[in-house]
Amino acid sequence: MARLSDPITILKGIGEARAKQFANLNIVTLEDLICHFPRAYEDRTQILPIEKLQADVPACFRAMVMNNPRTSHIRKGLDLTKVTVADTTGRLNLTFFNSPYAAQQLQYGAEYIFYGAVTGDFIGYQMTNPVFEPADRPGLTTRRILPVYPLTAGLNNRAVMRAVEQALAICDPPAEILPPELREKYGILPAETAYRAIHQPETMEEAAQAKKRMIFEEFFVFSAGLSLMRASRAEKQVIPYTQLDLTEFYQALPFELTGAQKRAIGDILADFRKGSPMNRLVQGDVGSGKTMVAAAAAYAAARNGFQTALMAPTEILAEQHAASLEKLFTPLGISTGLLTGGLTPKQKRELRERLAAGEVQVVVGTHALLTGDTQFSRLGLVIADEQHRFGVAQRSGLGSKGQDPHVLVMSATPIPRTLALLMYGDLEVSILDELPPGREPVETFLVGESYRPRINAFIRKQAAEGHQCFVVCPAVEENQELGLKAAETWAQTLQKTVFPDLRISLLHGQMKGAEKEAAMASFARGEADVLVATTVIEVGVDVPNATLMVIEDADRFGLSQLHQLRGRVGRGSAKSYCILISHNRSPETLQRLKALCKTTDGFKIAEEDLKLRGPGDFFGARQSGLPAFRMGDLSGDLQTLKDAQQASVEWIESWGQSASPEAMALRRRIGALFLRAEGTMN
Ligand code: ADP
Ligand code: MG
Repeated sequence: MARLSDPITILKGIGEARAKQFANLNIVTLEDLICHFPRAYEDRTQILPIEKLQADVPACFRAMVMNNPRTSHIRKGLDLTKVTVADTTGRLNLTFFNSPYAAQQLQYGAEYIFYGAVTGDFIGYQMTNPVFEPADRPGLTTRRILPVYPLTAGLNNRAVMRAVEQALAICDPPAEILPPELREKYGILPAETAYRAIHQPETMEEAAQAKKRMIFEEFFVFSAGLSLMRASRAEKQVIPYTQLDLTEFYQALPFELTGAQKRAIGDILADFRKGSPMNRLVQGDVGSGKTMVAAAAAYAAARNGFQTALMAPTEILAEQHAASLEKLFTPLGISTGLLTGGLTPKQKRELRERLAAGEVQVVVGTHALLTGDTQFSRLGLVIADEQHRFGVAQRSGLGSKGQDPHVLVMSATPIPRTLALLMYGDLEVSILDELPPGREPVETFLVGESYRPRINAFIRKQAAEGHQCFVVCPAVEENQELGLKAAETWAQTLQKTVFPDLRISLLHGQMKGAEKEAAMASFARGEADVLVATTVIEVGVDVPNATLMVIEDADRFGLSQLHQLRGRVGRGSAKSYCILISHNRSPETLQRLKALCKTTDGFKIAEEDLKLRGPGDFFGARQSGLPAFRMGDLSGDLQTLKDAQQASVEWIESWGQSASPEAMALRRRIGALFLRAEGTMN
């Protein structure tokens, strides 16, 4: 028997070149291979008589070759092989393009199992490029449920199938991590069965069961890991804060805090009092005033003699935070600092010295703040703005700095409660479900292409009034196939043919980090009228002067994502607008997009998104702070996710201290998962 950790090169037919191709799919060991799950299945179990074949519906049939295959050379690079086959119910003409294999293999008078779809009309059906195998040999690609694997250049499905089959034959799949009691309760297949069934299911139902187990398992491991993290942090001891009177802070604010802000601050102060490190997530829609909640926490830390590090996802955001905190804190005698890549080495050294000496109480920067050689004299609180850059790995890594600071994570992505439990199982959650008074909601319209002239006129009008406008496109480069508006070409078109007199700039995710920041900063300074961008602006800077958000091909985006994009405008005093453009007239799409026009409540929109699109989106690229989940497609599987979360709670209670083989295997898996998460960060 081989071991899971053995390299795939021990398999027959996998040499150096093949191994490289597999490595492109992150498959190096037998375990990687066995955990490379099919993305779909083709049910090829049914064998139909030829007369029952239906146009465009692929199926298997058994037929005899009725003549010698004839190959004709049509032109350079195009050979056609034609052959006629028949069973007792009918005949069928087959055509193969450039297939010396078919020309050679198909023997006059022999029987084969074919798999393909007929095309044609009443004059006669025919079939192009069917798959075939001799009828007297066991089926590899016919007469079975065929797994369809994610592939890479040079590696075809058959090669992956062969490799996986070999691996499963010589090696046990990953060990069971679920106690039988939990498996039974939640209707989950045993590991051994599931790992085989996911690659070689006998029925589609079995494939579905296996897939369910993998999703369950993955979230169970993740969830149990977060719970263990939470439990271990709760055992740590820190000095409770005693100076918790914020009257002076409140008096310094130019406005009254909202009820939601006060509640969140109350939660935080209660955590500070406790004597174990805080782990709290403040979730609040764009504009709900999270910064002030963070400021209150930093104020309390300072009054108790502790320093605060506030991390922003980008340098520009760090600068904005630093500026507003300095204005607030300087009169209160609390000193602030900004540590970014823009400082000269000398400035950096000076700031670091002052931090180490405890002369700076609140320092703002990017996540590099906590890496590098920054030393604090007494770090008490770490605040991370926009959680997606501050993933589980960083959360778990904080304790290892030698101190156990309180941790406050702020997120502008409203996550439905059920999912929040799962994704932030290691955190307590406070929700800001109230906007400061007097906000005018962003007016949102859904329009089709016929409105183009009016949209252009509206952009021009906003620009004439001195305001700025975002135009968001779904892709970077033109995608002919899907006909999507691409940022790059669209920016050129707008500049050249529509608005030659306006200043158009461009921002997309394939630009370098510094370029992106420069483009964004320049727009924030008002140096462009229109910023054409991809979704990278989702988490961007505050540009209060921007009053119009135009979203091209809006149906391509998730509701929550559209809501985030819309949040980029309406941040100043002027009335703001969001225009969703879509050619897609399907009723579901219209329903989805209209939901966005009707409400500006991020939580309602997130719930709607969850209902309509399933939980997959919430675990997508935007939440890259989470470990990468293997089971990419989570659509419609909310119940399995909830079950896994519930099961992990039960596991901690009943098996948390267990030394059974399953429990040991689970702990190893948790360790590996969070390590992998760490590897994918930065
Ligand atoms: P976000 O939650 O998106 O981070 P911010 O903290 O940036 O929101 O706040 C958005 C704007 O609202 C800021 O200009 C801030 O000064 C202002 N603000 C925050 N809280 C209040 C409040 N209670 N009343 C009025 N304005 C507020
Ligand atoms: Mg903010």
